[in-house]
Amino acid sequence: MKDKLATMAARRVGGGLALLGAGGASGCWLYANQHRWRPPPLDAPLRPDASLACRLASVKRLTHDTSRFRFELPSSEHSLGLPCASHILAVDNAMVARAYTPVSDPHTKGHFDLVVKRYPNGYFSERFHRMEPGDVMDFRGPVTTLQYEPNAARSLGLIAGGTGITPMYQIIRTVLADPEDRTQLRLLYASKSRGDVLLGEELEALAARHPEQLQVRYVLERDGAGGAGPPAATGRVSEETIRGFLPPPTAARTALFVCGPPPMMAALCGPPQAPRGERGRLSGGLLRRMGYGRQVVPFSDDTG
Ligand SMILES: Cc1cc2nc3c(=O)[nH]c(=O)nc-3n(C[C@H](O)[C@H](O)[C@H](O)COP(=O)(O)OP(=O)(O)OC[C@H]3O[C@@H](n4cnc5c(N)ncnc54)[C@H](O)[C@@H]3O)c2cc1C
Repeated sequence: MKDKLATMAARRVGGGLALLGAGGASGCWLYANQHRWRPPPLDAPLRPDASLACRLASVKRLTHDTSRFRFELPSSEHSLGLPCASHILAVDNAMVARAYTPVSDPHTKGHFDLVVKRYPNGYFSERFHRMEPGDVMDFRGPVTTLQYEPNAARSLGLIAGGTGITPMYQIIRTVLADPEDRTQLRLLYASKSRGDVLLGEELEALAARHPEQLQVRYVLERDGAGGAGPPAATGRVSEETIRGFLPPPTAARTALFVCGPPPMMAALCGPPQAPRGERGRLSGGLLRRMGYGRQVVPFSDDTG
């Protein structure tokens, strides 16, 4: 995905991993590559094989390196209508593509919002941050990482780092928006400092409204101790921060979703795996050493 969109032409859009409520030993209910394609809603304008040019409506600065970008859809009747869990692709004329997970409600009409962090010399992120309202960016998609099914899992562990929070936020909102969905959610969110936490207000408001279902913990490289908001540990995501908070490897009907920067993904899940059938399994890393297996779903650039 990192490079040419052409290499993605064969990429199935709308398939991926599926959560099936089977139960039994941990992870057995999580199956890869179910290839379930659902047609997008009729008013959803995004297509996998043709670019949709979207005009930038506004930019709101969130932190020193991250902003929220609002893009217009073709009309006030259109919505993205993304299934959970999906992302969209920003593409350019050279057919380079990058994944972004909208943070606006998928049913919002007329626009969608992306939270994008700027990486020094980042091919696409710099491009976002150079945009002015009125400029246009091309998008394709959706790319579905897994088909979320309410109550298929008893509990979900979510590990996010930096902008890796955006797919986790999509999942959290989907679960909590459904009063019939009783899935327990535990979010471990790694950031450099409290000031770098993205969507913090939104997450804390959701945790306050659903204390029986959502618990949030931060892992901060700096300033872990003290401060307002959810409990925070100092350092990086470690065995200590995972154990006792996230569902253990032996628990039935649980899954662990992981999304973060490449070094964090490698540390937790091992190096990325190429073969499609193997996605969703760990190639190494801390989680495998802790006894996790097929219940882990890494959200990475080769996902989808
Ligand atoms: C499922 C999924 C959803 C995503 N959603 C979002 C989102 O909502 N918002 C967002 O800002 N990003 C998101 N990303 C990351 C995004 O796709 C790009 O990887 C990111 O914007 C960097 O692209 P770039 O072209 O600017 O950097 P590149 O030119 O590809 O790389 C520039 C430098 O940045 C480093 N780098 C690249 N990606 C990351 C990263 N994710 N974390 C840390 N360092 C990195 C590279 O190692 C390199 O040193 C998501 C990724 C995935 C897999």
